[in-house]
Amino acid sequence: MNATNEAQLILAKFGLADRSNGDMVARSPIDGSVLACIQSDADIDAKLTRNAAAFERWRDVPAPRRGELVRLFGEALRANKDALGRLVTLETGKILSEGLGEVQEMIDICDFAVGLSRQLYGLTIASERPDHHLVERWHPLGPVAVISAFNFPVAVFAWNAALALVCGNSVVWKPSEKTPLTALATAELFKRAAEKFKGAPDGLLELVMGGRGIGERLIADKRVPLVSATGSTRMGREIAPVVAARFGRSLLELGGNAAMIVTKSADLDLATRAATFSAVGTCGQRCTTLRRLIVHKDVQAQLVDRLVRAYGSLRIGNPLAADTLVGPLLDRAAYDSMRAALDAARHEGGTIRTGGERIEPANGDAFYVRPAIVEMPAQSAIVRHETFAPILYVLNYETFDEALRLQNEVDQGLSSCIFSTDLRETERFLSAKGSDCGLANVNTGPSGAEIGGAFGGEKETGGGRESGSDAWKAYMRRQTQTVNWGTSLPLAQGVEFPVD
Ligand code: NAD
Repeated sequence: MNATNEAQLILAKFGLADRSNGDMVARSPIDGSVLACIQSDADIDAKLTRNAAAFERWRDVPAPRRGELVRLFGEALRANKDALGRLVTLETGKILSEGLGEVQEMIDICDFAVGLSRQLYGLTIASERPDHHLVERWHPLGPVAVISAFNFPVAVFAWNAALALVCGNSVVWKPSEKTPLTALATAELFKRAAEKFKGAPDGLLELVMGGRGIGERLIADKRVPLVSATGSTRMGREIAPVVAARFGRSLLELGGNAAMIVTKSADLDLATRAATFSAVGTCGQRCTTLRRLIVHKDVQAQLVDRLVRAYGSLRIGNPLAADTLVGPLLDRAAYDSMRAALDAARHEGGTIRTGGERIEPANGDAFYVRPAIVEMPAQSAIVRHETFAPILYVLNYETFDEALRLQNEVDQGLSSCIFSTDLRETERFLSAKGSDCGLANVNTGPSGAEIGGAFGGEKETGGGRESGSDAWKAYMRRQTQTVNWGTSLPLAQGVEFPVD
């Protein structure tokens, strides 16, 4: 069965058949075929009005009850994991186990948020004044805009929406224009959960369809106090000043350029396996994809030889096939940027040790490539740039200081890791003098985070944190409350202000 037919069958399961007349064309990277044509939104004003009204009703629903809606959404995802996971694969080209993993991540964050709905704890603070109490409480914030990228078309939505909803907010979601189908299917599952819940206000989740233009309208709207946007650093640079100019908040999850430091003491078996998965998984199209291998010069030859062998055994092809490990790139633009990066790397003195070539498919509109390993003489311009493709640059070092400098001297600050069995090296890597990234791992790769920790990165990665830990606080407004339950009026800092 070709991708179009399979997608049509899955869409029918979600009650979404007959999507063939819209202006947004959804293509499958698997064979380049048109999966469906979706109508974009000409105007989002009515949806925003409905969403803002839904917020006013939703914030009054007790948080544990709000958690019940998220629980039902998680159940709908569980029941439809196979269909939605396959649709993720059909629309993004990631291998099926990753497509299913993406839906699992949605289920996991729903579970997390259900528990959280009974724990949105504030603080009790010792007041300096007699007969006073001082507390911090967290209140719902308002409509939350979620702008998502193509490479995690639904998981990133769920990270945001599950938390935003239990925190008492409504959600307006603008998915990537490249992945509208998984968004429609997810919104349908949410609708079913809301019907079961009985009492969810209309418009609690609004899906707005379109590209940058629709995104620009959304971020400029004052009714939206928080814009959570995932995508390129370019996109973040455009969004941040617009939101800041109206004193909104933005939570930015932008580009990465993950590195792995491999020291002399490293377990090279572990490092080889971790580097391979992290560099070629999702065909190099993750924000946490390993792009820079910083290896001690004494073990460079051995490690690179092992990697070249591992790359030689990778099964590249249809991501729906059970034994495929590397699916296609998203589209021609992704392929062109990979080729341009390899040309630049050669120009900057790099030696391609393996890969980089396109594997000709039967259909010329699909872009399957062999992941590349490129040894570089220095951390040149192209190495510092995030190319969304499976290119692993290898740099070597002599001193640990040099390794840390290379790791930290790029503009992005998302994910990092070290492979070492030397406690002094690993602890230094994790210390304040070590990795400057939001994620720092020891003896495990930089890609594939769990939902329990806060996810996000520093510098040009945008500084936002999503998912687990206390990331929920970004979706609420904090109120410090002082109550005087006594009969006098003492002022803070001992200020005297006698009034008769
Ligand atoms: P992209 O920047 O092209 O688009 C992302 C989203 O932003 C899309 O929905 C797009 O329509 C919207 N958008 C673009 N410009 C906009 C503007 N000016 N105003 C409002 N909306 C706008 O990114 P992409 O190609 O879909 O995704 C790949 C990028 O996303 C990579 O750089 C990757 O590192 C990054 N990413 C980061 C994370 C993270 O958590 N840090 C996760 C996934 C992807």
